[in-house]
Amino acid sequence: MYDIAIVGAGVVGALTARELSKYNIKIALLEKANDVAMGTSKANSAIVHAGYDSKPGSNKAIFNVQGSKMMQELCQDLSVPYKKTGSLVLAFNDSQMTHLTKLLMSGNKNGVPGLCIIGQDKLRELEPNININALGALYSPTAAITCPYELTIAATEVAVTNGLEFKRNFRLEEVEALPDGSFELKSESESIKAKFIINCAGLYSDEIAALFGDKNYKITARKGEYFLLDKTAGNLVNHVVFQCPTKMGKGVLITPTVHGNIIVGPTAYDIEDKSNVSTTLEGSAEIMRKARRSLPNLNQREMITSFSGLRAHLESDDFILEYSSKHPNVINVLGIESPGLAAAPALAKHLENMVLQSKANLGDLSIKENYARKRKAPVRFNTLDNEQRRKLIEKNKLYAQIVCRCESVTYGEIIDAIRAPAGARDVDGVKRRTRAGMGRCQGGFCGSKVAEILADELNLDITEVTKFGGESNILLNKTKKQKSVSACD
Ligand SMILES: Cc1cc2nc3c(=O)[nH]c(=O)nc-3n(C[C@H](O)[C@H](O)[C@H](O)COP(=O)(O)OP(=O)(O)OC[C@H]3O[C@@H](n4cnc5c(N)ncnc54)[C@H](O)[C@@H]3O)c2cc1C
Repeated sequence: MYDIAIVGAGVVGALTARELSKYNIKIALLEKANDVAMGTSKANSAIVHAGYDSKPGSNKAIFNVQGSKMMQELCQDLSVPYKKTGSLVLAFNDSQMTHLTKLLMSGNKNGVPGLCIIGQDKLRELEPNININALGALYSPTAAITCPYELTIAATEVAVTNGLEFKRNFRLEEVEALPDGSFELKSESESIKAKFIINCAGLYSDEIAALFGDKNYKITARKGEYFLLDKTAGNLVNHVVFQCPTKMGKGVLITPTVHGNIIVGPTAYDIEDKSNVSTTLEGSAEIMRKARRSLPNLNQREMITSFSGLRAHLESDDFILEYSSKHPNVINVLGIESPGLAAAPALAKHLENMVLQSKANLGDLSIKENYARKRKAPVRFNTLDNEQRRKLIEKNKLYAQIVCRCESVTYGEIIDAIRAPAGARDVDGVKRRTRAGMGRCQGGFCGSKVAEILADELNLDITEVTKFGGESNILLNKTKKQKSVSACD
């Protein structure tokens, strides 16, 4: 019997898992995919928003501002990249300049520090490549960027180090409320019991809530398409550059990434299918057209890949964190669309407090001795100088072999990623942990080698290695062993 089961290993579930893993209780983190960060936390703008644009007093505003204050220290503790770039919202006409004043006022009400409106000269000084027709901008010095999937991975590693059980490929499909107040949680192939449930299932948290009898929520998937530019374009902008927001969201932005690329996007349109993360020609044309308004010299030839993410949109347009109306030992977390990443550290703390304040009989809520709060920084060969590389290779020769040439990722780092707590089990898992396959060639050279290493380490046949779990097998059979088939067979 688990004391707590957290459903969904996105950034919210993982950071909550990390917070709760310090207590002397038994916790499971259930994830339907083959890895953590396979939902919205995998594909977003990666911005730690300052918090000026959410309605004052809303959960979005409160948790965003708190989360943004917590994020730098959290990223330090978890050895996750973080960079305080600051952000700019551009205005191209008088009515947009008026809108900037409204954003400034709401930011002040939300408690965002350091906001100011800057004119053309200052804007040009901060961002020399910006359209000369921009009249001014709202400047937020506290906005930052991070890596959402590394944050999710690192938080889960800490939780697992503290004894939490990470159950991948556990899609919660059925719930039975037991007479003692606990629950039986069933996937297709497994069943566990838990006393307390935290529903952090992102896009599907309405469906999980319904399994517990809470049937009044409806989440709509709102798609955002992006493209990623090569590192050669990495100095196009220094800040996160927004345009004025619309009722569908924050609009098309251009932002540096913590790894030195540039992200451009997203679009915003509602779709029926919550699993549809395809990208479209129309989407990239729309992004290009809108983004060129901010940055006229944006060159689509620098694009190395496109991707999309799905916002978990609720009609009430705010985050919901509440005890189930049917069961006091269930917390539903819904509508965690943007700024959910920025808010996540504060949401996790709040959820920890909700657990502590609940009347659930959760056993020993004392704090473990010597629990891990921090994660040791993984080896990043490409950030080391030659002397550091020499010393590393002296200790372990596996770091002498480069597997991904674009990002200079070594064999040793890939082994580390697989052996880490809740480590990589597929090619994309290795990619998110090490950056092997994230570069210009997008895995064209290293993909097959990564698959071989996974097969060796996990004792799998190469045909069993997948790109992202499920049926995403990369190789189907060994052609050399195949019987030749003649036209007469
Ligand atoms: C286009 C876009 C841009 C964004 N940009 C930003 C930004 O710049 N800054 C910001 O602060 N926020 C941003 N966001 C929002 C942010 O990405 C999300 O708020 C955050 O990632 C939500 O995390 P989560 O853990 O709630 O959900 P998710 O990451 O979706 O995690 C939910 C998990 O639950 C699992 N799950 C679902 N059903 C089940 C089941 N039945 N059983 C077991 N597991 C299940 C899923 O597989 C998934 O892993 C953006 C979002 C989008 C889509």
